[in-house]
Amino acid sequence: MVQKVAVIGAGPSGLTSIKACLDEGMEPTCFESSLQRKEVLMGFELLCTSISPTDPPTNYRYSSMIMETRYLPDFPRTGQWEVVTENKDGLEERHVFDAVICCSGHFNYPNLPLKDFPGIETFEGKYSHSWDYKGPEDMHGKRVVVIGIGNSGGDIAVESSRVAEQVYLSTRSGAWVIRQVSDDGLPVDRFNTRFVHVLFKVLPMCLLNWLGEKKLNAMYDHAVYGLKPKHRLFSQIPVINDDLPFRILSGSVLVKPNVKEIRGSTVVFNDGSTAENVDLIVFATGYNYDFPYLPNDVMYKSGHRVGLYKHVIPPVLEHPTLAIVGFIHSDGAIMPQAEMQARFVSRVFKGHKKLPSCQAMIKAVEKDTKNIEKNYVVSRLTPLQVDFVEYMDDLAKDIGVRPSLLWLFFTDFPLFKRVFWGPVTAYQYRLMGPGKWDGARKAIFTQFDRLYQPLRTRQVGMTLEVYKHPHLILTVLSHYHFLYDAISSLVSLMSQLVDQTHNHRTV
Ligand SMILES: Cc1cc2nc3c(=O)[nH]c(=O)nc-3n(C[C@H](O)[C@H](O)[C@H](O)COP(=O)(O)OP(=O)(O)OC[C@H]3O[C@@H](n4cnc5c(N)ncnc54)[C@H](O)[C@@H]3O)c2cc1C
Repeated sequence: MVQKVAVIGAGPSGLTSIKACLDEGMEPTCFESSLQRKEVLMGFELLCTSISPTDPPTNYRYSSMIMETRYLPDFPRTGQWEVVTENKDGLEERHVFDAVICCSGHFNYPNLPLKDFPGIETFEGKYSHSWDYKGPEDMHGKRVVVIGIGNSGGDIAVESSRVAEQVYLSTRSGAWVIRQVSDDGLPVDRFNTRFVHVLFKVLPMCLLNWLGEKKLNAMYDHAVYGLKPKHRLFSQIPVINDDLPFRILSGSVLVKPNVKEIRGSTVVFNDGSTAENVDLIVFATGYNYDFPYLPNDVMYKSGHRVGLYKHVIPPVLEHPTLAIVGFIHSDGAIMPQAEMQARFVSRVFKGHKKLPSCQAMIKAVEKDTKNIEKNYVVSRLTPLQVDFVEYMDDLAKDIGVRPSLLWLFFTDFPLFKRVFWGPVTAYQYRLMGPGKWDGARKAIFTQFDRLYQPLRTRQVGMTLEVYKHPHLILTVLSHYHFLYDAISSLVSLMSQLVDQTHNHRTV
């Protein structure tokens, strides 16, 4: 029976794992190499406020770097692990655990593809990876080239452009850029709803891509702004950046194609244009992943991704006493996903959830990999995509906490509306089943109050009544927008066709 659990890392995944272990009555010990006690406790408190209450944990090992995690010699019998750590004084310690959860993150190993940039050795300025970026302080009056238009590249280009003399943003393949502050002033992930998920299941993807791209281009034409990517909107996680279009329009960020070569302080782009007197190059070129502290035979590759059952459990072990939490990428926030994974893992560790056979798990991983490759543009650097709602519901079903919409429809219609049309938040998985929290229903009914809290600094004619049922009104509005967009897009397409036919006849 698993009791003592090592949690490696105290980021969002580590914190949710600690909570899940405590909730299942296990004893987690967290090893963290860089964060301090105060930061971790604050993080844990915040987490419990947003999910469900749990007493704060006590077992932390700060400044403890996990160096190695080994099978104990009697692993085949016990499933136990030996964890070797090094403290800040360089002293080695050994601990025995019944199980281990790895939460060391997937942004730890910067990908710096210098060999793809001929002439980088001649560069006269400084270059760095976005991993080293802390702020634009050293960019005042400088000429900066940012390479890569992921979320980091976009953010760094925008921030540095406020102080730099000129920023160039070089992109090989372009990107769809969406706003964080979306329709009706709501955060964009508010649209991670079951209703939208159903739409995505029933409508053809080409239509959804077309509608979505049309909506984005209505704000600013991605082709005109030099951003238009090769891939379709929903085949890759978009860049979320509210400020980038304005920085491009004002000329402080110049969008450029891929870098062809570097000559001294000149950066030459693929289209022959150049950036002269460049002081700084920031490589926002993503991350590689690695678990250097795990035995080599624990992980196997499935396509570009690590072969993990449900993105969590290595299927090749005799005992399911090792898990990876947080190794995921979707269009939703990491916290609820890591929490769901951690709840799944703690149920497996406790023996409440039985796993399929090793072969069945490997088969499931391979099927899952094929689906990912079919639905997303997958590469070595972006191997982790999942569909947020589908993934959450899938794990929730295994744990026994997926909200039953049919049951809610007949027994609690007001809640049904909020669960179906509202954002899929962690509270929805606390309504029933193991880990049920009595405060979950109220938390769902009041989640928009908390969302609006920062906006309540000057009351301008909004009645409290509207705030009490904002999701219904906003849902109707958002559906109206959707339908309006759909209809207006179809009308515009038809008028283009009519125009073309007319021109054809005229010619
Ligand atoms: C620029 C940027 C912006 C982002 N914005 C968002 C956002 O808006 N919303 C969102 O949901 N996600 C965002 N993300 C992603 C998010 O940061 C990650 O998904 C999240 O941090 C993953 O959490 P984690 O706990 O798995 O890993 P991490 O947060 O990386 O935490 C891992 C922890 O493990 C520790 N550790 C690592 N190795 C060891 C070891 N060997 N021994 C002991 N300790 C170890 C590290 O010190 C670290 O504290 C962003 C990422 C970046 C880079």
